[in-house]
Amino acid sequence: MSSLLSRPIEFLKGVGPTRAKFLIQDFNIRTVEDLLYTFPFRYVDKTNYTTIKDIGRDGEKVLLKAKITSVKEVKGKRQQRLSAVAKDDTGYIELLWFKGVSWVRKMIVPDKEYIIYGRLSIYKGKKTLAHPELEMIKSGASKMKTSLEAVYSSTEALTKLGVDNKHRRRLIVNIFDELKPSDLEETLPPYLIEKIKLQSRYDALIKIHQPKTKEEADASIARLKFEEIFFFQLAMLFSKQRRKLKYKGPVFSQIGDAFNSFYKNNLPFELTGAQKRVVKEIRTDVGSGYQMNRLLQGDVGSGKTMVALLTMLIAIDNGFQATMLAPTQILAQQHYQSLQEYLEGTGVKVGFLSGAIKGKERKLVLEYLKNGDLDIIVGTHALLEDYVVFKKLGIAIIDEQHRFGVMQRAKLWSKNPDFLPHILVMTATPIPRTLAMTVYGDLDVSVIDELPPGRKPVKTVHMFESKRYEVVDFMRTEIEKGRQIYIVYPLIEESETLDLQNLQTGYEQIRDIFRPPEFQISVVHGRLKPAEKDLEMQRFVEKKTQIMVATTVIEVGVNVPNASVMIIENTERFGLSQLHQLRGRVGRGADQSFCILMSGNKLSSEGKERIHTMVSTTDGFKIAEADLRLRGPGDLIGTQQSGVMRFQLLNLVEDRTVTSTARSVAKLVLDSDPNLEHPANEILRNSLKVYFKKNKDWGRIS
Ligand code: ADP
Ligand code: MG
Repeated sequence: MSSLLSRPIEFLKGVGPTRAKFLIQDFNIRTVEDLLYTFPFRYVDKTNYTTIKDIGRDGEKVLLKAKITSVKEVKGKRQQRLSAVAKDDTGYIELLWFKGVSWVRKMIVPDKEYIIYGRLSIYKGKKTLAHPELEMIKSGASKMKTSLEAVYSSTEALTKLGVDNKHRRRLIVNIFDELKPSDLEETLPPYLIEKIKLQSRYDALIKIHQPKTKEEADASIARLKFEEIFFFQLAMLFSKQRRKLKYKGPVFSQIGDAFNSFYKNNLPFELTGAQKRVVKEIRTDVGSGYQMNRLLQGDVGSGKTMVALLTMLIAIDNGFQATMLAPTQILAQQHYQSLQEYLEGTGVKVGFLSGAIKGKERKLVLEYLKNGDLDIIVGTHALLEDYVVFKKLGIAIIDEQHRFGVMQRAKLWSKNPDFLPHILVMTATPIPRTLAMTVYGDLDVSVIDELPPGRKPVKTVHMFESKRYEVVDFMRTEIEKGRQIYIVYPLIEESETLDLQNLQTGYEQIRDIFRPPEFQISVVHGRLKPAEKDLEMQRFVEKKTQIMVATTVIEVGVNVPNASVMIIENTERFGLSQLHQLRGRVGRGADQSFCILMSGNKLSSEGKERIHTMVSTTDGFKIAEADLRLRGPGDLIGTQQSGVMRFQLLNLVEDRTVTSTARSVAKLVLDSDPNLEHPANEILRNSLKVYFKKNKDWGRIS
């Protein structure tokens, strides 16, 4: 590497020790190379300002050149805010800050001209920009070479030290004054650069910071974006291939009595075509000698549990044990119960373990597991503890993956000293293919894309709070028909107390209307002890109560076919996937089911869109798409992987084309040259080495 690139940032002309301290602290920019790889997040086209009178669409992004004529602090109900007025030749607009009030106040010089960039919001006809970016226009300083200027993120401390956008652009000029094209080695081989029509690394790095035109900026971004996702995919596929060669999985070569007799005598329904196909995919995998790492996607109610059961029976037929993990006590217990029912009379022995199983009972379960008396064990995270020892674990099935970390998956691998057990991860949060390839890139993916026959789609309506009496009437009629009803309150993570209060008030109102002894109500929330929770749940399952008031603890998996109404309170507080999951709790029986989304009158535009999506479709994939669009993929990725999956330029949701191109190119390369030994791939091998070194976390996810 050239000495300039690895030079500590302190020694770059224009930096020095104090600025370096904050560049390191705030942005982890330690070397010149780091600075070069910290890209602008936007460009300002200085020839393209809007005027205040021409803006007016709620949510639109606006770039203004205006004078700030007044600034004042306003005491709000809960917090201080800063309000400023900006004025150009055509009108006025209010600027607002709720955070960093005193700093922004100090920074603003009244009657100076600023470049102002922000998102317009219109409330009761009044136009404001909240937390806009400001850059003062210094007179005489505009000897601009280009009309497009890079904008970088900054912090209060750095701005105070003079490291503003202009200074950042200057630093880049300083770097390129010294840096020769030969100092910046290519990371991609020429044949790929040519094939994919990419810019050279040198050009891309200059032009992403200093583009002359939008086209130049776009081409640079395209090259660097490709690089981000390409090496990610290459690393993922490379590790996957390594793992496959290095570790053998247990071989389930035969289908025996457990499977066959269950299939013939106990199977309560005909499998759907999709279930059959997926079982076949899994069979091929577990019979291959490789270790299976498979993701099973299937919408709520698509029948994943049966697929899991059949898979476990195959393991048993080959002399192995199987385990099934669920994220909550309730769900684990329900799986345990349904497996027991399904397996009645088959001789297959199922056990249960969770934190709530203690003392003698626990000792026995652990003993049976160790000596092989148990074929299947169902449970919660407790199963991952070191003291849980299997005689011969062959497969682990994990339900509702998004609550399980990758580390936990790895923990399961260590449960069989001879083989890595097969892993089947099941999720009801369907995600689009390209995203799945990245987020779960080291897994193979199966999809159940068909619901069991005879399901009636859940009728979904949105009701404002003011129509609550209608909802109450509706509840009464449904209960009279013998149906059961869920009422779900959101979990407010910041405040468990508030959470409970909400639920409590709601419960009291319901109880005042639906009185005992005629009506019985169950209440379930996170503060209850597991035993209490189960008791309440059980009363509902046994139809002893007609209404279940709950927080989202019931979100996943719970199956009560007679419950046909789902009422969701404060719908605006829920994410789309969560709403979809909740709605999936009803519509499991033969009756027409309903989902009522309650909300207040004030809804954000995003809240409206979420509700609209729920009312207009029951298709999990469509809902997942909308969710991704609204919220981004953060929730899916989860914290465990986020270190490796933090892309600077790539947007996993929007950049699907480049993502799948990168994936197929990486696959092509590795298929023809698995160890990257071909001379033409030497560059790739070196780049990959550097990539692994830089992303030390990688080892943990693969
Ligand atoms: P999920 O995929 O959400 O975990 P479940 O496995 O809980 O779904 O299945 C939902 C319901 O559908 C269960 O009551 C189950 O018995 C039933 N079911 C599953 N497969 C079929 C099928 N092929 N035909 C009819 N009912 C089915
Ligand atoms: Mg399930």
